[in-house]
Amino acid sequence: MVRLSGLCKSFGPHRVLRDITLDVAAGEVVCVIGPSGSGKSTMLRCINHLEKPDSGTITVDGELIGYEREGDNLRELSSKRIAAQRAKMGMVFQRFNLFPHLTVLQNIVEAPVAVRKMPKQVAEAEAMRLLKLVDLTEKASAYPSALSGGQMQRVAIARALAMQPRLVLFDEPTSALDPELVGEVLEVMRELATTGITMIVVTHEISFARDIGDKLVFMAEGQIVETGEPKAVIEDPKHARTREFLSRFR
Ligand code: ATP
Ligand code: MG
Repeated sequence: MVRLSGLCKSFGPHRVLRDITLDVAAGEVVCVIGPSGSGKSTMLRCINHLEKPDSGTITVDGELIGYEREGDNLRELSSKRIAAQRAKMGMVFQRFNLFPHLTVLQNIVEAPVAVRKMPKQVAEAEAMRLLKLVDLTEKASAYPSALSGGQMQRVAIARALAMQPRLVLFDEPTSALDPELVGEVLEVMRELATTGITMIVVTHEISFARDIGDKLVFMAEGQIVETGEPKAVIEDPKHARTREFLSRFR
């Protein structure tokens, strides 16, 4: 479903991604952990081409992201075609980025109506279904300023799902939340994981990774140090670097 192959990315002299290769199967939930600055967000941003890799390729559903082949070379796609690729992936960030001047319902239907040209009634019916999934039906006409952080993040998840993505990328979706609000967001993600959607989740929630993840990836200094079945990696890490990182969570 998602294949990263030999992905490299530098910012100036700083090599942030060093030869990242990763396969994610359809329906899989892959959790990514690692210290601050290890390149986790940059890797996610490369997947939806918010960052351009220096070398290496990314395919989603067999489709090369951001580029097309021209003989032996890759040529960057037009911004329109990149936007079309991006529209097929959901992205949920640490900060909710809801439109403050739109209600919850309007936030969710905005992209399907504007980008997908979905009829408004159809989009609204779908939005109400998604609000039910994230348990916020009663907030449909509220504005973001009237929501708690956990509620905002659940709206952000509903909004990402409204484009009917087959892949959702999560970048520390709970790390900006007050501790008492983390559980409700993880609960929604747990629910989502059962629907067969493919998820790549950067998180510091080790127990979520262990219980919900199909695969755990540990990154450090721009490389994948260790990857495997979450329970195995967490309980019996093979690399000293992984052990050292995980010891912070005990
Ligand atoms: P965190 O856990 O703190 O979110 P991360 O693993 O997500 O960390 P990245 O955000 O991918 O790390 O950043 C990796 C490195 O790349 C960091 O040293 C960061 O300062 C650097 N970096 C990221 N984006 C840029 C940019 N646009 N320009 C320059 N340097 C950048
Ligand atoms: Mg990050």
